[in-house]
Amino acid sequence: MMNLIMLGAPGAGKGTQAAILNQKLGIPTISTGNILRAAIKDGTPTGLKAKEYMDNGQLVPDDVIIGIINERLQEDDCKNGYILDGVPRTIGQAEAIDKAGIHFDAVIALEVSDEEIMQRMGGRRVCETCGASYHLVAVPPKVAGVCDACGGKLVQRADDAPETVKSRLDTYHKETEPLKAYYAEKGILHVVENQATLEDTTAKILEVLGQN
Ligand code: AMP
Repeated sequence: MMNLIMLGAPGAGKGTQAAILNQKLGIPTISTGNILRAAIKDGTPTGLKAKEYMDNGQLVPDDVIIGIINERLQEDDCKNGYILDGVPRTIGQAEAIDKAGIHFDAVIALEVSDEEIMQRMGGRRVCETCGASYHLVAVPPKVAGVCDACGGKLVQRADDAPETVKSRLDTYHKETEPLKAYYAEKGILHVVENQATLEDTTAKILEVLGQN
């Protein structure tokens, strides 16, 4: 049983590292970004509410996110633990998760400079069907434009446009970065600096988790 949080700027590699960890640790990744994108695609009421915030690079209101998480963590596949990717993103969300009585073993804060984030984002592609994440250079799919996992089409996220990335980074520094102090105080924060390759970053994460 292991409950983890992946913390970090947009494009820091949370989803990519979470996908590797979920293979190694046998626990699912819960990404609120993926859940919201699926809701938008399906035209659900939650999707309709979230779309404008997401298009503008702003955070979706806490009550929407807390509702999604409370529901998702009750599903069967979460029984042996899970990796939260992209949530919590505000102190309000973290407090709500605490109040629900959920305990975390570790919070991994992936540190990547804003300059590097801006460079990376142009190469990101996501599967429009299953949400899997790729990068044209760092994590290329086996067949260009096609998801390795499900055969779905790979697309660029609308909110990966440079201007939107800038406002998402601002939001990250203002709203999400304070979570580092929040979890440091609980003694579960592990800062992992970006390494030369993504495999090296995975190795650092496994080291801090004592899983190497
Ligand atoms: P992500 O895929 O994690 O980069 O999320 C994409 C967008 O979804 C974000 O820019 C937000 O608009 C929204 N979002 C995802 N997770 C959260 C969250 N925990 N709190 C608020 N907004 C979120």
